[in-house]
Amino acid sequence: MARPPYDLVLSGGTVLDPSQGIQERRDLALADGRIAAVERTIGADQSLQVLDVSGLLVTPGLVDMHAHVYVGVCPLVVPIDEIAPASGVTTVVSTGDAGAHTFGGFRKLIVNQVRTRVYAFVHISTIGLTGWEVGEMRNIDYADPDKAARVVRENRDICLGVKVRQGRQMVGSNGLDPLRRAIEAAEMSGSSVMVHIGDAPEPLPQVLSLLRPGDIVTHCFTGQGKGILAEDGSLLPEVRQARADGILFDVGHGMGSFDFRVSEAALAQGFPPDFISSDLHSGCVNGPTFDLPTTISKFLLLGMPLAEAIRLATAAPAAIIDREPLLGTLQVGAPGDVAVFAVADDETSFVDAMGQVRTGPRGLVPRHTVTRGRLWGRPYPHPYL
Ligand SMILES: [Zn+2]
Repeated sequence: MARPPYDLVLSGGTVLDPSQGIQERRDLALADGRIAAVERTIGADQSLQVLDVSGLLVTPGLVDMHAHVYVGVCPLVVPIDEIAPASGVTTVVSTGDAGAHTFGGFRKLIVNQVRTRVYAFVHISTIGLTGWEVGEMRNIDYADPDKAARVVRENRDICLGVKVRQGRQMVGSNGLDPLRRAIEAAEMSGSSVMVHIGDAPEPLPQVLSLLRPGDIVTHCFTGQGKGILAEDGSLLPEVRQARADGILFDVGHGMGSFDFRVSEAALAQGFPPDFISSDLHSGCVNGPTFDLPTTISKFLLLGMPLAEAIRLATAAPAAIIDREPLLGTLQVGAPGDVAVFAVADDETSFVDAMGQVRTGPRGLVPRHTVTRGRLWGRPYPHPYL
């Protein structure tokens, strides 16, 4: 008998691919590690393996724009290959785990070893995030633009730019100098800066005034003060202007950086995030973040349409990564990265990083993850089930 053309078919699900505007029942076929067909019906005899996903949602593999994964070197990380297959995540961006002095090891031990696709921002501090909980920018001498720029230039296939954390605990008395040096490194390497905000010594407009189009503000819905809202809850005009100027705003939930009140106010004032990301690390993987699907579900709870929420965790971050053609989509020829979810409407409680609770439909419950054309891990219950 001739070998069938496909390796795996996900049969009977609702395909949701925001990049193509598809949200309807389709069968999806994979072959040779890539998306091979998205059709109304694909015969079971066409594939080596058929997985019945009737009643489930089939999306591109999730792309997490903010995570921490440098196991063995940084304290606040997760072993990403243990987390990703349980959560529909197939690509993550390590945001500043490695600095110039530890990036070689990061590439060797993480990027080259794990099944998850890993990209990175190099930290402007040469020690990256190894020093936690001593702030990595309390000694400004660690901030070396030459070295960070060289890492970006030498690792363009995986390194997207330069990370800096502008929190009081991280920068000590160095004010905005770490950010200035990160921008200098980004200028020298033709790349972007991702800046962490929250509990910063300076008001956010001072940070924004230094940023350039394409730079990213992460923890945009922080409730730790000096955020995107004025005292009266209105969106700062400088924040709206920054978006108009091309500056991007990332969620980065984490253990301290997502406040329901801030996100509710922002969405009500027409200011959704540019990406939904988890900031997953050991301090939040057992709550309040849990995983990226739970973070997405919080935005569904806040009223964001499902297709838009999925776009902000697939095509939107993939466009910024811009290293792998068709990443974050289910177009034929795209990498074979797929997530399958149940969409549950039973009422559950969600907690933000401030301990505030909102109740509503459970949302995305991960069921299967496919990466590079193969089922990854196996079906197992979500922590909520
Ligand atoms: Zn982070």
